[in-house]
Amino acid sequence: MPRAFITGITGQDGQHLAEFLHSKGYQVFGMLKGQNNPRALQFRDEFPYVELVPGDLADLPSLVSALEYAQPDEVYNLGAISFVAMSFGQAELTSNITGLGVLRMLEAVRMVGGTQNNKIRFYQASSSEMFGKVREVPQNELTPFHPRSPYGCAKVFGHDITVNYRESYDIFACSGILFNHEGPRRGLEFVTRKISNAAARIKLGVQDELVMGNLDAKRDWGFAGDYVRAMWLMLQQDAPDDYVVATGETHSIEEFLTLAFAEAGLDDWHRYVRQDPKFFRPAEVDFLIGDPKKAQDKLGWTREVDFPALVRMMVRHDLEVEASRLKK
Ligand code: NAP
Repeated sequence: MPRAFITGITGQDGQHLAEFLHSKGYQVFGMLKGQNNPRALQFRDEFPYVELVPGDLADLPSLVSALEYAQPDEVYNLGAISFVAMSFGQAELTSNITGLGVLRMLEAVRMVGGTQNNKIRFYQASSSEMFGKVREVPQNELTPFHPRSPYGCAKVFGHDITVNYRESYDIFACSGILFNHEGPRRGLEFVTRKISNAAARIKLGVQDELVMGNLDAKRDWGFAGDYVRAMWLMLQQDAPDDYVVATGETHSIEEFLTLAFAEAGLDDWHRYVRQDPKFFRPAEVDFLIGDPKKAQDKLGWTREVDFPALVRMMVRHDLEVEASRLKK
């Protein structure tokens, strides 16, 4: 039975990946931070097959102990301070966890897997936010980085140190440069889930307005369930490499609003949405659109859920959750 170790197990991608690897017959270990993590109870209920191991990306000895215990064949480093807006206010914390955390995880892999013929395969969750003020459209694996947030800067370090450990120590380390991916498990702080949840709550009469930032921002949005498959595929190849994972399509927040409110049965989103400059980013990223050709050609990866289906899935989920909450 192959063994996988996932940091960021309680996050959106951690949950999808745990489910996916379990279905592939893996023994799954997930790293849980904190002495009384508020997400632990619900996580244990939903994912009884995942063995939780304590550890924190700020603490190298804890990562070493966690890997010594799990003895994984594959490590997926998904843990991060991942909310771009928050990274402006907590830049040092973001750099420490999202950036230096990758270095600590790689060191733990080197220490536990051995400095020669290291057998552990490593995946780093890199991000399209590294492209920021984009140098070309669409962006591929060779497009230069120009991050526009502390989060993007930390991810650039995480990406570069992953490549460096691969080249310096012959570690099977891959960096997946993933464009935005969403779904019903997305945190409520992220714009897509904020919209799908508000549409559901407005429809059910428990909320009457939605306060938003920049509605013109455009993103390349896919479904998280499709994207974790790409992570796994990267670690199954003969040689480690870096891949862009994206849909190759871009959509505006306005388009997301239009589809989401229509799915909830609300005719005109303009009636409910107010903009507040407080939600604008100090520096916005440009036209993010990924070129997934390499992932398609080399990994045989394709997405299964398109943009309208993604929005539909999220709104239907939130309508169900909010309606059952009302019944209680
Ligand atoms: P997420 O839902 O925000 O999950 C982040 C995870 O990181 C949570 O499990 C969180 O644990 C954990 N974490 C935070 N601080 C930690 C620390 N000090 N030590 C260990 N774990 C810590 O993020 P996601 O959407 O699943 O994304 C997964 C990864 O992909 C992240 O690295 C993200 O930056 C990257 N990424 C995401 C996207 C996207 O569109 N979703 C795109 C590109 C890249 P708690 O629950 O305990 O706080």
